[in-house]
Amino acid sequence: MSMERTFSIIKPDATRRNITGRIITKLEDAGLRVVAQKRVLWSKAQAQAFYAVHKERPFFDDLVAFMTSGPIVMQVLEGENAVAKNREIMGATDPADADPGTIRAEFAESLEANSVHGSDSPDTAALEISMCFRDDEIPG
Ligand code: GDP
Repeated sequence: MSMERTFSIIKPDATRRNITGRIITKLEDAGLRVVAQKRVLWSKAQAQAFYAVHKERPFFDDLVAFMTSGPIVMQVLEGENAVAKNREIMGATDPADADPGTIRAEFAESLEANSVHGSDSPDTAALEISMCFRDDEIPG
């Protein structure tokens, strides 16, 4: 077991339905701690840069439109095996496949509007945190 940080987003479908607190409670109950957090409205360019790895995918433009459709909450989470633990609590990308009790099983609206993002590896987490937070915005 090792102490880790991961990057998390509460997506526009969740901020719109006023359920950010319920999502954060699930993360905290799983042993993850919010060590940095901010609510922002992404520009199209910011969403395109964040999801650049998906730019050849057929859903890329829809995903960018969705992620800029309302505010998001970006957060750095810390805990033992935080990357894997966050993915476990989030559930599968498609809420139809997500295990009962996971955030996506309980809250996601669709495959696209699936309420949360979480880094898929420690390297990705470090990259995503550095894209979205300055060091002095992570008080710990
Ligand atoms: P994640 O790591 O579980 O978020 O999944 P991916 O990295 O594969 O996809 C990134 C995000 O793109 C997902 O969380 C969804 O919001 C969206 N997405 C993934 N697959 C599809 C798809 O087939 N159609 C649409 N419209 N959106 C998708």
